[in-house]
Amino acid sequence: MLPLPQYESLAAAAHGHLCAGQILGLRMAVYGLRLLGIEDPAGADRKRLVTFVEIDRCATDAIPIVTGCRLGKRALKFRDFGKVAATFCDLRDGRAVRLVARESAKQRARELHPEIESRNRQQMAAYREMPDGELFEAQWVRVEIGPEDLPGYRAPLAVCSRCGEAVAFRREVMVEGAPVCRACAGERYYTPL
Ligand SMILES: [Zn+2]
Ligand SMILES: [Zn+2]
Repeated sequence: MLPLPQYESLAAAAHGHLCAGQILGLRMAVYGLRLLGIEDPAGADRKRLVTFVEIDRCATDAIPIVTGCRLGKRALKFRDFGKVAATFCDLRDGRAVRLVARESAKQRARELHPEIESRNRQQMAAYREMPDGELFEAQWVRVEIGPEDLPGYRAPLAVCSRCGEAVAFRREVMVEGAPVCRACAGERYYTPL
């Protein structure tokens, strides 16, 4: 793993700016990997990890910088729970740790750096220095990941019996014995015009 300042430059380039959320996300990923004993996420341990993230905010963008887990590689999973939390799963040992950012970290940042007026800069400074335990609550968990959710899964596509679109990774549902995509089954988030 790289030192934090190096991760910060990579995160700033990927995210468009450096912010407190980026630093929090980097610290979260480094801590998660350390708890799992994963030392070389970009190299030898490249295929060991799947990460679940629970919010689509700044911190989430920073996590793949450390873990290498990306959405398009199926190693990053988004569960929209609205929480600054992530679960790091070691596929080799079947262990997983869920980290939640502590709300109290913001107050701690105010105490540590009252001299910094900008809230973002104040939190950036504090989140670089604070011990892991003040930033995050850690919880060991079990995560069941089906083969169809793992990177590298291969199976024939289904074809939706209603719209004719192809559906991968067993995301179809069976309705009266026929495969139907989730949109046609009622989960459509858009309205055709
Ligand atoms: Zn940001
Ligand atoms: Zn369909």
